[in-house]
This record gives sequence, structure tokens and C-alpha cells, in this order.
Amino acid sequence: MPTVLLIEDDVESRKRMARLFIRHGWDVIEALEGKAGIELAFAKRPDAIVCDLLLPKISGLQVCRAIREKLDLARIIIMAGRRYNIDREAVLEAGGDDYFVKPLKWEKLAAALKRPRRRPGKLVGRDSRSLKFHPPSTRIKFWGVRGSIPVPGPRTIGYGGNTTCVEVRINGDIIILDAGSGIRELGLSLNEEFGTAPMNLTLLLTHTHWDHIQGLPFFLPAYQAKNTINVFGYQGARDGLATILAAQMELPFFPVSWKNLPGTIKVRELKKMEFSLGKVRVHSRFLNHPGVCAGYRLFTREGSIAFLPDNEPFEPLKLKLAERDGVHADRARAQAVVQRSKLVEFLKDTDVLILDAQYTDEKYQEHIGWGHGALSRVVSLALEARAKKLFLFHHDPAHDDRQIDEMLERARLLVVESGRTLEVEAAREGAEIWLSGSVPAR
Ligand SMILES: [Zn+2]
Ligand SMILES: [Zn+2]
Repeated sequence: MPTVLLIEDDVESRKRMARLFIRHGWDVIEALEGKAGIELAFAKRPDAIVCDLLLPKISGLQVCRAIREKLDLARIIIMAGRRYNIDREAVLEAGGDDYFVKPLKWEKLAAALKRPRRRPGKLVGRDSRSLKFHPPSTRIKFWGVRGSIPVPGPRTIGYGGNTTCVEVRINGDIIILDAGSGIRELGLSLNEEFGTAPMNLTLLLTHTHWDHIQGLPFFLPAYQAKNTINVFGYQGARDGLATILAAQMELPFFPVSWKNLPGTIKVRELKKMEFSLGKVRVHSRFLNHPGVCAGYRLFTREGSIAFLPDNEPFEPLKLKLAERDGVHADRARAQAVVQRSKLVEFLKDTDVLILDAQYTDEKYQEHIGWGHGALSRVVSLALEARAKKLFLFHHDPAHDDRQIDEMLERARLLVVESGRTLEVEAAREGAEIWLSGSVPAR
């Protein structure tokens, strides 16, 4: 009896497919998320794998790549709730055999399962018994992808409603980028993972606008004496970093004061633009955003990650200010070109670029000077910097899932029109990225 592995987080959709396969004489094994799916694929070696594109943690594409790295026997069918031609290409490029839009019809599935695979199946690697899944040592996970204010609800369920927070794991070290409301969920997850073991966490703040620190009072690890949190950031516009962080927890805003948090919390103000966090080298750069706001680039063995959650393009702002101040437009434009080229240099060849793409080009015209990105300029910056993968980030609180989908599609079209190569995704709460994108050899 042939076996199919279903990797799908949506219970209804998984059950429905399981029934379909069972009815047609298949054995069914099931996984709820990517990592478990990869492990099951290696352990059970199914004849076919049907995997959702948008899984809650790692994506269907990453699952595909990780499986193909070592196992090229099964037919892999990726399914998605939407139809983009670009997704189909990405699926094939990742080693998938077919791409279908949900709900899957048995006739289509059966036809695909009968078709010969594009490449003959083979076992990759020397020893079939050594198949084991090892996640790469550098991983990134999005816990909050929104700008300005949390916007939970049915309209934002796809990309998530929490404000900025990204977790980076590098060889077991945990670096948290910003402490928006997404950090609350991260805290709960860390608590479950560590149990009674102590945590040693690094929190790197870009700036202290509320959407980047508002989750800190609800970060559970700070409430446990066993844990240490090292907080790094640049001094705020007026007060020191420690004063600002403590202020949002003062009465009458919050019942627990900063100094009474049981965890050991050390706040260190950064003075240099190049420094190390453990073994990770970090470069920073001040961005085009009101107040003091830094962008960071983390260098790891598997590549680099650039994090610029709040950043406005230089030229439109410079031109607007020039008009107000009576400065010649050419001079303003020349200044903007210099600033931009410095930013391009800072981002050169980065593997993952997480960049403020709050506004569509049209909406940006009404928000010049607000400190945030405009879609086509975000894409052109990433292209010029030769980034490998761009994540549209700091989604506007007014944008629902459909609008972000449209912005993503537009960004991908801009890349196609440029004739260059750049993978583009919209950052999604719960999504995980593996920097190497592959399974290390044993
Ligand atoms: Zn922000
Ligand atoms: Zn800000």
C-alpha cells in the first residue's frame, strides 16, 4: 500500500485530505508543522508528500529543500491557499514536483501521482541509514511584524497583528531584535522550552518608539530570577536607555516597576557602530527615522542578517525639506544620493534583509517625513544592495492580509521587471527562516 505524508497545520484541510487518500487505498501519516514533517519523511520514507506552502513555522519551500537535500524518492506536492505564478516557480526550484491551489481535487492529485517525475528518483547521499534531520545553526523567527500598534483580528490573521519582534538563534545563542508586543509570545515559548533551566538572552533594540518596546513589560523571562537579559541599544533622543525603558513601567501606567523585575536585566548603551554580541559580529547604522533609530547587520557563519524595521527613503524627504527651506533641489538630491549609497554599502550582499515596507508608493506620498518605507524604493534598495532575500516588514496597521498579499505580488513583479534576482516575502508572524536553507551534512 503506498504511503503519503501530509504536512498541514489546518486541521480541517488535513483531515479532508487524509480521508481522500485513505478512500483511494493509501496509508496516511500526518505532521502539523515543517520540522516534524521533515523528520517523518526521513524516518518513514513515504511515496508522496503533500505539504502546505504557508506552515506556521518554517515554510513549505524550506521543508521541500530540506527533504530534497537528502531524500529524492518521494513526489512532493506543495499546496497553497492562493495562486501566484511566482510561487509555482519557487516550488519547482526548491525541488517540489507539483504546485496546487487548495482545495485539492482527487482527480488532479491522482493524475499528478501517476505522472513520471521530472527527475528520476534517487537517494541523495551515501548511506540511507544516516538520514536524520539537523536544523541549521542560524535561524530567524518572526514574532511581531507590524508597525505602530498591535492590530489583532480576523483581517490580520494571516500575517499577524503583533508589533516588531524577531528572534535570531545563532549556535544556540538567542538574540532578540526589538521588544514590540510580539515578544510576549516569544517569552511564553521560551518559558516552555527552558522550563527550570536559566536563560541568557540578548535584546538588541533599534529604537525606543513604543511599537519596539511595548511588549517588554509582558516578557515572562524578565519575571524569573533565574534569567539574565542583556539589553543593548543607543541612547534615546532625551534620556538614557534604562530611563526610557523604566518609564513605560512607571505608575500609573503599569503596576510592576522596572527595578522590581526579578530577572537580572542589564541595560548597556552602545557607543560604537561595530561590536560583538558573544561570537556574533554586529555592524550598525543610524537610519532615516525620527529620533535615534539604528539598523543592525548580524554576521554569522551561514551569512548575514540585516534588520531595518523603520527607515524612510532619503530622496523624497530631502526634496520636501529642500522645498520648505528654499534649498535647491539638485543639492538636496545629491545629498540623498550620498546617503543612500552609504546605506547600500552597509547592506551589500546581505543574505536576509528585513526592511520597513510600511507604505504602498501611493500611500507614501501622503506620509513623506513619517519615517517609513515605500514599496518600490524598498525593492530597489534591496536590488542595489544585492540582497538575496528581502522580507517586507513593519506592515501598516491599516493593511489587512489581502493588501499585504497585493504588496508582495507588486514587489515580486518589480523584481521580475528589473531582470535581476531577489527572493521577496512579506514577513509573517510565526514564520521561521533558516539562513543556510539546507540541512548540514553529517
Ligand atoms: Zn516602528
Ligand atoms: Zn519608530
